[in-house]
Amino acid sequence: MRYEGNIFRPPSEARSLLVQATVGCSHNRCAFCAMYRDKRFRVRPLEEVLEDVRSARRHYGPGLRRAFICDGNALVLPNRYLVSLLEELAGSFPELQRVGVYANARDIAGKTVPELDELVRHRLTMFYLGLESGSDRVLARMDKGATADEMVSAVNKAQAAGMKSSVIYLLGLGGRQDWREHALASAQAVSAMNPNYLSALTVTVVPGTPLAAMLESGEFELPSPEEFALELKLFLENLAVRATVFRSNHASNYVPLAGRLPRDRDRLVAELESAIAHHRFKPEYLRGL
Ligand code: SF4
Repeated sequence: MRYEGNIFRPPSEARSLLVQATVGCSHNRCAFCAMYRDKRFRVRPLEEVLEDVRSARRHYGPGLRRAFICDGNALVLPNRYLVSLLEELAGSFPELQRVGVYANARDIAGKTVPELDELVRHRLTMFYLGLESGSDRVLARMDKGATADEMVSAVNKAQAAGMKSSVIYLLGLGGRQDWREHALASAQAVSAMNPNYLSALTVTVVPGTPLAAMLESGEFELPSPEEFALELKLFLENLAVRATVFRSNHASNYVPLAGRLPRDRDRLVAELESAIAHHRFKPEYLRGL
């Protein structure tokens, strides 16, 4: 396998074969994100990527069950490209069950329903989308490149085609001034999505990003660990999903939580209340991106 630059994948894809079809993110402008700032977005030549898959087959044998197509939003690729790659993966790994990909709202909106159906038939059945916030004000400030409604429609469209969704909510992105709006609007957007999986990550200000400049100028104020916990509590109390696996046990989080919603909501809220009451938060030195 050949990889260009740092490779990112969701924690749940730890055992997947990582196939790099794009380099970087086609948007690459979110104020808080430093993942692909060192990369200029491009599509790798298909033949080169297919050769990577063949080499993985020689190296790992035929038994792989999962693959993840990197880098950022590889769902931006045209179906012709994706289907050729998915066919190579299925041919090389007969036990392949699922292929995952990062996606943004525009990628999904840009595909027709038959195109999404075609991808699902070829086992691309998992996508990860960063909602980050349900507040359009926060999204615009962070230059996310999509509104909450656009992201809700995208998730619903892909789910209707049979894809499973994993949605990311970024705690603290409203800063101190807009934390309530951020929590409530995010709960509303996630409720309208009813994703299969939901992760709450905690915003981390990375040096060199526009968010770091906003922090420096005072335009953005980072909440305290207690305020992050209060925001997550307000978010959970206002969430109305029907069947969602919830995780906030990412390295960036101050209070690790995990459960199924709505079933475990009261327990999760009680755990947050207890962390706030006893000031029990993960120390900074144990937090990661
Ligand atoms: S958050 Fe996602 S869409 Fe935004 S720049 Fe980073 S990888 Fe691209």
